[in-house]
Amino acid sequence: MIEIRDVQKIYNGSSAGALSGVSLNIARGDFVFLVGPSGAGKSTLIKLIFREIDPTSGKVFFNGRDMAGLRESELLKVRRKIGMVFQDFRLLRQKTVFENVAFALEVLGESPRAIRARVSLALERVGLAGKENSFPSRLSGGEQQRVGIARAIVKDPLVILADEPTGNVDRENSRRLMELFEDINRSGTTVIIATHAWDLVNGMKKRVVALEKGLIVRDEERGTYSHE
Ligand code: ADP
Repeated sequence: MIEIRDVQKIYNGSSAGALSGVSLNIARGDFVFLVGPSGAGKSTLIKLIFREIDPTSGKVFFNGRDMAGLRESELLKVRRKIGMVFQDFRLLRQKTVFENVAFALEVLGESPRAIRARVSLALERVGLAGKENSFPSRLSGGEQQRVGIARAIVKDPLVILADEPTGNVDRENSRRLMELFEDINRSGTTVIIATHAWDLVNGMKKRVVALEKGLIVRDEERGTYSHE
């Protein structure tokens, strides 16, 4: 579903490549951890899949289509199929939990009735039923990230991209968030998570793609992440 073909990324003004010739295939329904030290290129890879940035060379395909060739309207359509989850949650502070999740559908022009139903379902799915009227600042880090995940899944995406989703969450809640991602994946959504959390990765027995200095150094089914 996602094919990255010989991608290089050199940021403007930097001499070294953030990615130096990376090829990777991710099939529909996969659960993939992107691991590796800080600066290895994990975020860059995620940004390329969302086409937040363009590769310096090489290609990124989404469902067989070259992302670089998409017109603006087509790109928006592809992005609707991608749910993003961020380390810092990126919730709107002045909006309630319900409104934060609803916003993702309002911008797609859904009817208020459909929005109500889908937001309720998404919040139930992430275990936040009853918190609809809370403001993010009143929630724990784990709960805030659940709102972030609800906002991502409410669009019914084909793929979830998460960049260090447990970076601001305590250990026990991080483990629960990973179980939630696993549950979402079980229903067919492809999940791609960039993370440093080796202990969580090792407990999950999923595909592990390890990056170092802009290169893939390991790609294993039911992999682990050693942390020395
Ligand atoms: P990771 O997510 O694995 O920590 P990144 O993809 O964020 O790695 O970064 C890979 C490399 O690219 C690093 O050397 C980083 O400093 C560099 N980099 C990332 N973003 C930018 C940017 N906007 N401008 C210049 N260099 C960047």
